[in-house]
Amino acid sequence: MSRIAFIGLGNMGSPMAGNLIKAGHQVTGFDVSQDARENAAARGVQIADTVSAAAEGAEAIVTMLPNGKLVLDVWKELATSVPRGGLVIDSSTIDVESAQAAHVLMDGRLTLDAPVSGGTVGAEAGTLSFMLGGTEEAIEAATPILEPMAGRLVPCGIAGAGQAAKLCNNMLLGISMIGACEAFVLGEKLGLDAGALFNVLSTSSGQCWAVNTNCPVPGPVPTSPANRDYRPGFATALMLKDLRLAAQAAGAAGAEIPLGSNATRLYEAFEQAGHGGEDFSAIINYLRSAKA
Ligand code: NAD
Repeated sequence: MSRIAFIGLGNMGSPMAGNLIKAGHQVTGFDVSQDARENAAARGVQIADTVSAAAEGAEAIVTMLPNGKLVLDVWKELATSVPRGGLVIDSSTIDVESAQAAHVLMDGRLTLDAPVSGGTVGAEAGTLSFMLGGTEEAIEAATPILEPMAGRLVPCGIAGAGQAAKLCNNMLLGISMIGACEAFVLGEKLGLDAGALFNVLSTSSGQCWAVNTNCPVPGPVPTSPANRDYRPGFATALMLKDLRLAAQAAGAAGAEIPLGSNATRLYEAFEQAGHGGEDFSAIINYLRSAKA
């Protein structure tokens, strides 16, 4: 059993902390939101009054926060108290530059950027995929802490590489969802039955997660958000956040991402039309109606 500090007990952090407790760890957490603190306390998290108080005496610290600025603020506070050799893991999805800066802030400690995919369902089930950026020593130390929350741990390279991999994956996901939606809309206009088209796409070279698992039309995949009025799932606002981070990273690295840029523009328009809370596959409704 380890004593673990968990900072950021929101939709993802609270169930992740809950899985650490189920695995026998003792978790002390902090969140600025009263609701989040109460939800986490109901899962057995001991609530501290500050970031520093949560981290006191912890063998490992996990942060799960909305953006890079907040991660850097929290890691700056932690840097004054975490001893040399201490383990600090950030699982938020943030920009690559902030992720790299966070490692530097915590020089002399074992640090990982470890963003996740799998959403709130994976967080509850303890089946998240973690993309790891950091040293082999840090990955080895973090493995027993991450395992109760994880389906897969994927080492991606040096500091910042976990975030880089996450942004590449989610940019591809945003693009492929729009591609899947366009195929179903074109099929409709050509008089194709959606089920028949699914049978072709899902078994031919068009197959992908956006078609086979998160199918944007109701019917063919009963568990996809399309069957429950597009309740997420993975919310459009979060997809847009990740596409913007990918565009920022591409700008800094000098990479051309014409489809990524177009996907960002389409999701921006969809969010501005009031659909940020819907699953990102709901963009099919926008593509059906809009002159996108
Ligand atoms: P959330 O908004 O539900 O949770 C974030 C929590 O951080 C909130 O409870 C907030 O009060 C807290 N917080 C903000 N500032 C703080 C501070 N200074 N100190 C302590 N707590 C603070 O968001 P979420 O859905 O849990 O997502 C967390 C991270 O995981 C984000 O970076 C998100 O992009 C990423 N992510 C989310 C999903 C998903 O499906 N929700 C999937 C993969 C990755």
